[in-house]
Amino acid sequence: MNTPSFKVQVIGHEWALDLLERQHAAGRIPQALLLTGPPNVGKSTVARFLAQRLNCQGTPQPCGQCASCRKIISGNHPDVRILDGDNQALKIDDIRNLQRELSLSPNEGQYRVVALCNFERATQSAANALLKTLEEPASQVVLALTATDPGTLLPTIVSRCQMLALRPLSTPTVAKALQDYWQATPEQAELLAQLAAGRLGWAVKALTDQELLARRERYLQELVELLGMGRAERLAYAQQLSRDGVMLKEALTLWLTIWRDLLLLQSGAAQTKIMNLDWRDRLQALARRSSLTQASEMVACLRTALINLERNVNPRLNLEVLLLKLPSSR
Ligand SMILES: [Zn+2]
Repeated sequence: MNTPSFKVQVIGHEWALDLLERQHAAGRIPQALLLTGPPNVGKSTVARFLAQRLNCQGTPQPCGQCASCRKIISGNHPDVRILDGDNQALKIDDIRNLQRELSLSPNEGQYRVVALCNFERATQSAANALLKTLEEPASQVVLALTATDPGTLLPTIVSRCQMLALRPLSTPTVAKALQDYWQATPEQAELLAQLAAGRLGWAVKALTDQELLARRERYLQELVELLGMGRAERLAYAQQLSRDGVMLKEALTLWLTIWRDLLLLQSGAAQTKIMNLDWRDRLQALARRSSLTQASEMVACLRTALINLERNVNPRLNLEVLLLKLPSSR
């Protein structure tokens, strides 16, 4: 029987792992990393893998068997912290607590590794507080920030980090991984890989959450309906959707992919570049009903709304502002 492995499984992104491996071999592992890329593309997975790689006590590293590898997988390693809270703002107190921790040498590992996921959710004061740590990092500390878009972070933060821009994986890579590691049937793997647009994490989520595809369809339908709604109806919809923060984030994230697709279609990019390939015809119909300027405005508004959500702005108010900016097809 095979011994179960506790190794963090990274699919794709080989160039990023190779680069980190070479830097580590040369004794020059960067102390501040910024992993960027679309949601669920594997940013925090690469950070977790690095934490295992740097602290593994076995061979080959990471071995997926030693106490350190096991503790990192179960989230119990005292020197490794992955802060991936989705809808919670990162506040200045969080950064100060972290700084106290980072000033101590590692407890049992070789490196303290801290991943600050979705760093867009940091408040301005938290981001400013982190600058000091990035300027003078303690030795044996690696900080890994993740963000969808580096443009939403303070330029002074971005310039102090080594940036690794993770790209979406190829559709066959996602399909193969779903079958090899997540026990998907060939049919499931093919469909989800297509819809995932290179984001393996999304495909894995869709595999385990049966309702996800149905909700995706519903949010698209509701977006189309919203365009035909007046002010009062939009506000009523906002009241309803904003009751559940998780659903709200899911809807906004999906709408962002739709408006990005519309922006691509309207700017004449190849149709194959869009994320929601299965909706190509419906998106083209939508593209005819809105302008390039509107699409570009909606992408910006949705980004802001998602950042606001992470910064604990009142969800209903946030959504109302967004929905009132939606173009009208009445
Ligand atoms: Zn190990």
